[in-house]
Amino acid sequence: MRRKIVAGNWKMNGSRGLVEQLVPPILSGMASLAKDVDVVVFPPALFVRDVVESGSPDVGVGVQNLACWSGGAYTGEISADMARDSGCGYALVGHSERRQLFAETDSQIAAKIVQAVNSDLTAVLCVGETLEQRRAGTAEHVVAAQMRAGLADVGSDQWSRIVVAYEPVWAIGTGKTATADDAQAMHAAIRQALSAFGAPAENISLLYGGSVKADNAAALFAQHDIDGGLIGGASLKADEFMSICRAVPGEC
Ligand code: PEP
Repeated sequence: MRRKIVAGNWKMNGSRGLVEQLVPPILSGMASLAKDVDVVVFPPALFVRDVVESGSPDVGVGVQNLACWSGGAYTGEISADMARDSGCGYALVGHSERRQLFAETDSQIAAKIVQAVNSDLTAVLCVGETLEQRRAGTAEHVVAAQMRAGLADVGSDQWSRIVVAYEPVWAIGTGKTATADDAQAMHAAIRQALSAFGAPAENISLLYGGSVKADNAAALFAQHDIDGGLIGGASLKADEFMSICRAVPGEC
């Protein structure tokens, strides 16, 4: 049975003060969530320990990025083992901002996924098409290719450490969201592509991301193949984030 996950990507926002503001209401709201929902936050790496100390183990914590290498002379980089040692259970890999602004390639992304799962982190691989690709009718092809490239080196016993987040690039931070039907269609296509790739697709959690808010989350999370969300801007407001978490259907 796959887990439901709602994850907040704080990006390069916040402060230690924000951790103090956000984590307590997340913790106190956990009792009102469906039982099988995992709540995860991806703070800036410098604040990981603050979140771990105030929220773990109830709130999962992850890094927004990690190195392609396990260690050594890579100034400024953070390894998967360091993230694990600091209390992280998750790593975001291949977010579109990293692909676009930092020219992250598919092979770097594949290497980061390997680093993450080898260090017992759950890797959240982000995939998604641009508006041009959607208009050209190549969205499913692009997303499946990103998925295959990113997961190329995952071992057959490591699939339980993989989550895929479908985040159409045109929906990230824009206020535009895929319709629930379009999002469901893409998630079903991703699950099919995972299965064709030899992965245990029915057990892999698939998240939707892209301008998810309290007022559109329920329709998205009600879809058969959508197992939760990756939330950017709305994860910086405790009330809004917890309303989104509560939109995951299921028994409390
Ligand atoms: C994101 O950055 O992963 C994201 C989904 O952002 P937003 O919710 O702000 O669109």
